[in-house]
Amino acid sequence: MVKAALPAELVGLGLDPDRPLVVVDVDEVLAMFVRAFERFLGGHGLEMRFERYALYQNIFRPGARDHLDLAEGRRLFDLFFLTDMADIEAAPGGAEALAALARDCSIVIFTNAPSGSREARARWLAANGLDYPLVCGQGPKGHGVAELASRTRGPAAFVDDLLPNLESVAEEAPRVRRFQMVADERLRPLAFGDPARHRRIDAWAELGPAIAEALGIG
Ligand SMILES: [Mg+2]
Repeated sequence: MVKAALPAELVGLGLDPDRPLVVVDVDEVLAMFVRAFERFLGGHGLEMRFERYALYQNIFRPGARDHLDLAEGRRLFDLFFLTDMADIEAAPGGAEALAALARDCSIVIFTNAPSGSREARARWLAANGLDYPLVCGQGPKGHGVAELASRTRGPAAFVDDLLPNLESVAEEAPRVRRFQMVADERLRPLAFGDPARHRRIDAWAELGPAIAEALGIG
């Protein structure tokens, strides 16, 4: 299998080998991404319909039966990250939960965001009390999470909303404890999951202590 190239900031990231590790996604985990993207689309005369766990296929012109052209959706997605990233609200309780975990663990934020949006993403994280090492990647996250987990002797956990990322980590870093979190209430019933393989907890107030317990801390 061809593995995704590791992002440079991941390769250069130093981790304390004696601390447990928590790797956390951003959009729909720490950030209410789709809610902000929906507002942005409204400003462009478009709407989102929550019919499936997809992004571009959920963008419509009002009254239209077919979703927007996928390439146009992609263009708007990239534009959103350049212009409206700062408007995303933080997921409730995320900063508090990570601050509690950070007393005993290394925290790494691992996001797939368009290239060129890294600085805006880092500013957003800092402004929302989430100033932890940031890795911006592309594609399935298993390879990167396996590399990070190999740098600690302690246990590790991974949180993401997307089943393909959780499956990728299960395959490439099977020792890492996996949690699925979906921040937006409208997306929760649409998210593909496999709770027997990846524990599903949609609220940080419950998720933070569950991660701590899985890592044997606190
Ligand atoms: Mg996400």
